[in-house]
Amino acid sequence: MKWNLDCSECDFTSLPRGLDTVCPECGSALLVCYANTPAVELKGARSDCSMWRYPEWLPLEDGEVPISLGEGGTPLLHLETLSGENESLRVYVKDESQNPTGSFKARGLSAAVTRAAHSGAEAFVVPTAGNAGIALSAYGARAGIPVTVFAPETTPAAILAQIRYFGADLKLVNGHIFRQEVNIKECTEFPCSVSNNSPLLL
Ligand SMILES: [Zn+2]
Repeated sequence: MKWNLDCSECDFTSLPRGLDTVCPECGSALLVCYANTPAVELKGARSDCSMWRYPEWLPLEDGEVPISLGEGGTPLLHLETLSGENESLRVYVKDESQNPTGSFKARGLSAAVTRAAHSGAEAFVVPTAGNAGIALSAYGARAGIPVTVFAPETTPAAILAQIRYFGADLKLVNGHIFRQEVNIKECTEFPCSVSNNSPLLL
């Protein structure tokens, strides 16, 4: 890996080989910082259409295998109507609904679970309003690592069903997602290996 995790507020920096979520010195967000911008070149098998075609940008050491469900490589659709007749204006939309868990969260959770699994994570927990819970449940199952998901009682039934389908321990809570963060901190029995603060989700 050719990048570090640098604190967004203080001078803390670390190699991305632990289970960091926020800066251990000041609690601020950690940012993925590249010493040199990697080249955008395809590597791996030509048949691989996933985001892991670009390993130089991703949290993988030599010889490690990504925790992948084929995320990335989604269609980039040209919206001719919105672009209009102005040749200098071309509007595109990336259809992230075609990711394996139905949202862009599949990319971030594939990266975060890959790094955490290779760093020794034994359990995952996440507060969610929906898509992150589905994605972490799916990638945790793929890695063979148990997942606990905190979600509001008002979460749509279709989302809760997917979280349960992937085998996560689903805990419904009364209140907003920020209240769930408090619940997780109160539940010290859960190793918080991946949360919404994980720098690899951004
Ligand atoms: Zn800091």
